[in-house]
Amino acid sequence: MSHVSRFAPSPTGRLHLGHGWSAVAAHALARATPGGRFLLRIEDIDQGRSRAEHVEAILADLAWLGLDHDGPVVFQSARMALYAEALERLKREGLVYPCFCTRADIAREVAASASAPHGSDGPVYPGTCRALPPEVRADRLAREPHAWRIDMARAVAVAGPLEWHDVFAGTIAADPGSQGDVVLARKDAGVSYHLAVTVDDAAQGVTDVVRGQDLFVATHVHRLLQALLGLPTPEYHHHPLLVGSDGARLAKRHGAPTLESMRAAGVDGRALAAELRAGRLPLGFGLASA
Ligand code: GLU
Repeated sequence: MSHVSRFAPSPTGRLHLGHGWSAVAAHALARATPGGRFLLRIEDIDQGRSRAEHVEAILADLAWLGLDHDGPVVFQSARMALYAEALERLKREGLVYPCFCTRADIAREVAASASAPHGSDGPVYPGTCRALPPEVRADRLAREPHAWRIDMARAVAVAGPLEWHDVFAGTIAADPGSQGDVVLARKDAGVSYHLAVTVDDAAQGVTDVVRGQDLFVATHVHRLLQALLGLPTPEYHHHPLLVGSDGARLAKRHGAPTLESMRAAGVDGRALAAELRAGRLPLGFGLASA
């Protein structure tokens, strides 16, 4: 079988070695079989934080690593109609509802409740807008900015039990309920990561999703959306995250060296990619154990 994999960075900062590791793994998988394809998708739905200069740097980093991609670069910002269509379908089925809450409203509600359950992104949404009387909802919908949230309990009941498979972790029983009523369309962006990534992976025929362990839990939600939207489920490869010598995960906010800075320092990108492909990390980097 030929593998179709993708690298899907958000152009909100420069890439670091962890991104390089992920891209090398996805590329190697696609190139391991004849007819495989490695796609590049720029996840720029957050127009406030996405920058053209980061896109340029991503393209330069991949070229430096020798990672050629197939087909045109896909920008999520150009695919809003596709996401709107998926959202409409969920609206028609009564599986989403508009949410008018601000972050401050949610924080206040959560603070007031003694036992707020937590999902991967912090406390789960307390459900304030799910319970709005229909006439109040209709009135506010016409006048106020709003996000769209999934009615998780209803969606889980409609979809029934679901599974997905991870190359490292095996067969996983989907547990989207633990994430609560996640946002599918942001107030400011018209779509969220969860909806865009699920729609795109299916639309682009991605067979293998290679990404960091930090997104493992998000896959529960993606599996549910696949079921609700009648989309296929790819194979998942949630690889361990890279850590620095201090044991801290590489992330832009920790000041990890960027691929751009390594390029500028004269590091041989293709040699680095070959080392990463062989499972060897540069000195001072390791893999997180969890
Ligand atoms: N755009 C996401 C990120 O930069 C990755 C999305 C994915 O691989 O599913 O973290």
